[in-house]
Amino acid sequence: MSRKILVLADLRNGGVRNVTFEALSAAKNISEGGEVSVAVLSNNAAVNTGEFAHYGADKVYVVNNAALENYVPDAYAAALEAVIKEAGANVVFLAHSAIGRDLAPKLAARFGAGAVSDIINVELDGGNLVFTRPIYAGKAFTKNTVNSDLIFATIRPNNLTKSEPDTSRSAETVNLSVDLPADSLRTFIKEVVKKSTGGVDLSEAKIIVSGGRGVKSADGFKPLQELADVLGAAVGASRGACDAEYCDYALQIGQTGKVVTPDLYIAAGISGAIQHLAGMSNSKVIVAINKDPEAPIFKVADYGIVGDLFEIVPILTEELKKA
Ligand code: FAD
Repeated sequence: MSRKILVLADLRNGGVRNVTFEALSAAKNISEGGEVSVAVLSNNAAVNTGEFAHYGADKVYVVNNAALENYVPDAYAAALEAVIKEAGANVVFLAHSAIGRDLAPKLAARFGAGAVSDIINVELDGGNLVFTRPIYAGKAFTKNTVNSDLIFATIRPNNLTKSEPDTSRSAETVNLSVDLPADSLRTFIKEVVKKSTGGVDLSEAKIIVSGGRGVKSADGFKPLQELADVLGAAVGASRGACDAEYCDYALQIGQTGKVVTPDLYIAAGISGAIQHLAGMSNSKVIVAINKDPEAPIFKVADYGIVGDLFEIVPILTEELKKA
C-alpha cells in the first residue's frame, strides 16, 4: 500500500538539521511509491529546497509568514495543519526536538490521529509500519504499530540512516499561503535570548565530550572544550555539573536534559547515574574517564580509563593533535 509521507523540516540558525534528511531517507524507504514531501515553515528562510529532493522529497511545501519567524505553537500548528491537508499525508515525521514534541501531539489530537514519539527505527512488516522506540531509559525497546489513517511520529536524531544523496533528483516547490492573523495566536515571542553552547549542535553531534561534577569548576570544562575542539565535538554535561553552576543547563544530557546518540561519547568525571544514562546510553561507543573504578559509568562504557581527568584529558588532546 503506497502512503504519502510529509516531513517537517527542522530548521535551525538558517540551516536544515540532519534529522530532516534522516527522516526523508526513511520516508522514501517506507512510502512504497507514495509521494514524499517536506514542509518548510518560516519567515522567508533561505533554504536550499533542492537538497530535500536529493534525499527523497518529491514536493516541497513552503509556507512563508511573518508569524513563523520564531516557534509559536498556534502559528506552527495552523501552518502544518494546512500543509498536511494540502499534501493529503498519511504519515507526518517531525524531529524529536522541543518543537516536534510540542507539535506532534497537538496536531494528532486535532486530526484525531495516532502518534508515536522518539522513534529510532521504522520498517515495513507485511504492509504495516512498525516503529521502534526505547523505553526504561534505553534499557529496552518496544515495537509499535499505530492503527489510524494518519500517523504522527517524532524521530530521535542520529538514529535513522541517512541515504546517499541522489543529486539527479529534483522536487516541485509549492508555495502555500496560510492566513495567520495575530489575534488567532495566543502566544507571541517578545525577544529571543540566545545562549552560546559552542559551535556544534549537541543533539546532532557525532562526538560529544561531556563533563560532570568531577570537573570541579567552570574552568574545569576548559580541558574538555580543548579536547572537543580537536575532535570537532560538542561539549555536554551531567546535571551534577549544571546544578553546581559549572556550565549552562543547555548542555545537560539525561532524563531531564537532551537525549543524544553520538558515534562517540566521552564522559569525564561523571558517575553514571541512571538519569544521566537515560540520555546517552545508546551512544555507539562510550569512553568513561573516572578516578573511581567502581563508578557505575564503567558498566555502560566500551572503554574505561581509571584516573584523574585533569591528567588524562590533556594527554588525549595532545595525542589526538598529532594524529
Ligand atoms: P557525581 O555523581 O557527583 O559524580 C562525579 C564523578 O566524578 C564521581 O564518579 C567521581 O568519582 C568523579 N570524579 C571526581 N573527580 C574526578 C577527577 N578529578 N577525575 C575523574 N573523575 C573524577 N542527571 C543527569 O546527568 N541528567 C539528567 O537529565 C538528570 N535528571 C534527573 C532527574 C531527576 C528526577 C533526578 C532525581 C535526578 C536527575 N539527575 C540527572 C541527577 C542524577 O541523579 C545525578 O545526581 C547526576 O547525574 C550526578 O552528576 P555527576 O555524575 O556529574 O556527579
